[in-house]
Amino acid sequence: KTPENVVLHVADVHKRFGGLHALADIDLQVEEGKTHAIIGPNGAGKSTLLNVIIGRLAPTSGAVVFDGTILTGKKPHEINQLGVARVFQTPEIFADLSVLQNVMTPAFARRDGAFRINMFRSVESEAEIRDEALAMLDDVGLVGRREAHAGALSRGDKRRLELAMCLIQKPRLLLLDEPTAGMSRHDTNTTIELLKKIKSRGMTKIIIEHDMHVVFSLADKITVLAGGRIIAEGLPEAVRGDPRVQEAYLGG
Ligand code: ADP
Ligand code: MG
Repeated sequence: KTPENVVLHVADVHKRFGGLHALADIDLQVEEGKTHAIIGPNGAGKSTLLNVIIGRLAPTSGAVVFDGTILTGKKPHEINQLGVARVFQTPEIFADLSVLQNVMTPAFARRDGAFRINMFRSVESEAEIRDEALAMLDDVGLVGRREAHAGALSRGDKRRLELAMCLIQKPRLLLLDEPTAGMSRHDTNTTIELLKKIKSRGMTKIIIEHDMHVVFSLADKITVLAGGRIIAEGLPEAVRGDPRVQEAYLGG
């Protein structure tokens, strides 16, 4: 019952925390290659939904289906191995390694994982992985800092590094969790430009975001949550003008 171009289907998900209905009747379809934003006021259920998708929380009922595979019941690392990656919540970098080594590490893990599955598949050499890592660093604007200790980077640069570490894994679905939270306006704009640049790569993205400027710069489609329910969904222009959305945001 999932249309062919839909890569992620959150099917009738409910999540209760004791008496609190944090997610109710959530049916969300994310199309392949698109950037799908999930917005809503504080407490709307955005983080809960993201945690259900990546397997950190089990839904009370309903299921999450990714590319024909039911994710519900799988562990976060199993879901990650299926090609679902998440960035920007806590920067998980190796502070004592160089910037370049940080980007190469997940590529080695990906290669070794693929090797275990099919020993006869040709695998990338270390030199190839290094070249690929340098290309990723170039994309995120960090190639000039490749030999720096990752721990010495600024906060904004750590986020760029984390994005490069994620992209080199070639995820099919990338979940961005408030990518500009706590950033200055300058860093926010740099991040928007970076995300626009990687947008054309065909990778499907879900962006959880509070900042409307970021959302309207990047999203192909927007789902609005409020009080654990989907209150509006559609193209950015339509959602922007929806009175229910304005009411939810302006404290209606
Ligand atoms: P958002 O990310 O949109 O701000 P959340 O998903 O964090 O919203 O929270 C939705 C609701 O669920 C809030 O009322 C929040 O207090 C509640 N909630 C979130 N996580 C838990 C939890 N682990 N236990 C109990 N209540 C929770
Ligand atoms: Mg949240």
